[in-house]
Order: sequence, then C-alpha cells, then structure tokens
Amino acid sequence: MSNKKRILLIACGGTIACTTDATGVAKQSLSGEQLVNNISQLADYAEIETVQFRQINSSSITLNDALELMKLINSTEHDGYVITHGTDSIEETAFTLDLIHSSSKPIVLTGAMRHASLPSADGNANILAAAITAADAKSADQGVMVVLNDTVHAARFVTKAHTSRPDAFISKPGGAIGWLSENRLVMITRLQRRQLFNPEDLRHPDLVNISNVPIITSYSGDDGKLLKLISDSKQFHGLIIDGLGGGHVSELMAEQIDIATNELIVVITSRTGEGSTLQETYGNIGSEIDLINKGVIMAGWLNATQARILLQLSLVAGLDKHAIEHKFLI
Ligand code: ASP
Repeated sequence: MSNKKRILLIACGGTIACTTDATGVAKQSLSGEQLVNNISQLADYAEIETVQFRQINSSSITLNDALELMKLINSTEHDGYVITHGTDSIEETAFTLDLIHSSSKPIVLTGAMRHASLPSADGNANILAAAITAADAKSADQGVMVVLNDTVHAARFVTKAHTSRPDAFISKPGGAIGWLSENRLVMITRLQRRQLFNPEDLRHPDLVNISNVPIITSYSGDDGKLLKLISDSKQFHGLIIDGLGGGHVSELMAEQIDIATNELIVVITSRTGEGSTLQETYGNIGSEIDLINKGVIMAGWLNATQARILLQLSLVAGLDKHAIEHKFLI
C-alpha cells in the first residue's frame, strides 16, 4: 500500500474551473476531476480523490455552503483537503472554515487569477502547491490555509488585494506563513489554532434569516438614513458598520446607532484596513467611547468581512450580546 497522503480535492468552481466558450468569454467548464487529471505531477506527492461540491462564482457561495463544506470534510477520512474555489470570496470561506475546523488535518483553499485558456493560467501550479501543502506533515494543526502563487497564507490574515494579478493575495498584518520552493513546503511560523465554534452548534432552523448580516461603510458627513432604513425594517439581527479611523462615525450616524442597538447587534470595524478599533481614547459623539456607551461591539483588528462572519456564526449559535462580545476578543 502506498504511503502517500490521501487528499480529497473538493471543487467549488471559480476562475480555476473556467475556460473560454465559443463566444470568447470565460465560464466554468472544468470539473474537479478534469483539473486533477491535467496535472500529472500531483501523483508524485499525494493520492488525490475529487468531489464536485459546487460549480459557481465564489460571489454566490453562502454561509450555508461553507457549513456544508465542513460537514463534508468531517464525514470523510482523508489526511488533508484541497478546496478549489473562486478567488473573489476565497478569504470568506477560508475564515469561516477556520473558525469551525476541529481536527488537526490541513484544509487548503486555492484558486486561479487567470483562467485555463490564458497563456498565464495559474490554476495547475496553484493546485499542485495546495496539494503539496495539504500533504505535508508541517501543515498539521495549522487550521485553514490559502495557497496561491507559491505562497501560504493563514485564513485569518489573507485578503485579495488586487483585481487581476497572479500575486493578488496578501496577508495582513503579519505576512504569509510560508511558501513553496522547488515543490517543497517551507513554513516560517506556527499559528495557534483558533476554533471558536462547534459545527454542531450551528444548526439553526432559520439559518438564512438569522445570518443575514449587512455591512455598511460609513463616511464623513454620513446622515445615518441608510442605517435608519435598516433598523426600521426590523429584518436584521446584526449589522457591521465599517467606520472611520479607530472605529468612528458622524454625529447623525451615532444618533441612529443609539436607536439601532435596541433592535440588533451592531459591530464597528475600521475601514482603514489595519490596526485595532479604539476603546478609550476619544470622547466626542460618534467616537468609540460614545459608541460603546450606546451599545456597539468594537471589532478589534478584524476587517468588516471577517467581523461579519464572526457575527453570523455567533447569531446562528444563538449567543447573546455579552457572549458575542467575548468572541470578538480574539
Ligand atoms: N469570479 C471568480 C470567482 O468565482 C474570480 C476568480 O475565481 O478569480 O471568484
């Protein structure tokens, strides 16, 4: 019997599955099995099986899809997992899985910035790098990773930072955790695992509604009318406000936040993209001390998309505001 690791490749669609059709536009056409069959070198590193999970653009992947992915992973006995996924939302699925991944097995997401009909197609190289990463013992206990362009990113730090270049992915604030060199995995740091939820606690009967958490970006002079519409609609249980600077909003917005916190959980992030939201510096209306007194949760260093996922999972798990606040202290 072979001593190669058994890796399950779970195909979700995205550019990595695209080729151009007769009209010259890129569309999903390659199955997971075809992707694997196109890369003869894979057999040198792992035994790969495939399952076709979805064949869609990643902008349509939902929280429920991510939970189903985890269910699929937990129902199989493979040594590691490669998920091929659209790059537009790969960081969201990776972050979600990282918060609920309970075993030490590696889960590695990958995609392509250039589809398979282009001369610069990067899909095959990315799948090979992801499979090598998933099959390497050094990847155990590192949670969920994203591998593209021979670079290994931790799910909690990775973000897409360019629309089209093959090096579109970066990790903030600390940088990537490893890379591939001559098809060998180099890991330069070890991360502490960070499972915050048990998948069994995420089976809410009204999952789609309860997890419907919008993000609104605030700006100078925000009159708060959009927030008023949202809270008056009484359709939402949670909301992310991507605030200015250390997590600040205008005075009119602060007035609306005061009302909104009676209806829903409001979390404030910073649209700056790096650093932590403040807690105890500024005393003006709309600054962090005022907003905390009005009942918001400050998101710390999570960006708006990450904060949204953490709030979604918290709401699905049925947590109260105090328990949710505690989850944000990560
Ligand atoms: N639109 C694609 C997606 O599904 C883009 C990509 O995969 O790079 O995210």
